[in-house]
Amino acid sequence: MTLKVLLVEDDRDLRTMLRQALTLEGCEVLPAASLADAQALMAHAGTERPIEIALLDLGLPDGTGESLLGPLKLQPGTPVIVITAQQTEERKIRLLDAGADDYLVKPFSIGELLARMRVALRHRGTVMRSAITQYTAGELQIDVDARRVRRGDADVHLTPTEFKLLARLVRSAGQVVTQRQLLAAVWGNEHVDHTHYLRLYMGQLRAKLEANPANPRYLVTEPGVGYRLADPGD
Ligand code: CA
Repeated sequence: MTLKVLLVEDDRDLRTMLRQALTLEGCEVLPAASLADAQALMAHAGTERPIEIALLDLGLPDGTGESLLGPLKLQPGTPVIVITAQQTEERKIRLLDAGADDYLVKPFSIGELLARMRVALRHRGTVMRSAITQYTAGELQIDVDARRVRRGDADVHLTPTEFKLLARLVRSAGQVVTQRQLLAAVWGNEHVDHTHYLRLYMGQLRAKLEANPANPRYLVTEPGVGYRLADPGD
């Protein structure tokens, strides 16, 4: 991928390693070691070719990377992947709700990072054209417009609520969707605390879509945060 990447990371070894790995992939990497560095790069990058994706560490010497989420989002559609050593659930949820596209907990592999970057960029592309309505992964085929779900050669019959939940996950396929986002989309804003609805309906969906519902390959739990519609072949 030829991409302009803003890399905000104060750990020099990690920054160097990521910069080299991404450069090898053909990316143009703008490395920043602090919030101030990142802001300077963002101010300059805008004049020529804009930053196309940002990788954002949270613990920085002059503050938290979280404070860049707003300004980065002002460039419409710039995906942000948070890279963090901190893994409290509330923090992850807050970041996603604040507009981060995804997060990776250190340590992570370059392969994992590249896969997440591809998903985030695919979403930017598709979200700007139109919403994702068709999804194929492994033996699953989902057509949201036609309200049709197939597993292998068989049609799968879903209740309207099960279908709404699945359709919301398809819209963000490959990315984590918080419990709050799912509850709001399916049951409405007044039900965002009713996480037991989700557990119940996710169990039903898994029973219909997964070969082994106890060890799901498609409807993956992000513990304490939410769910991700995964492609087992990714
Ligand atoms: Ca750090």
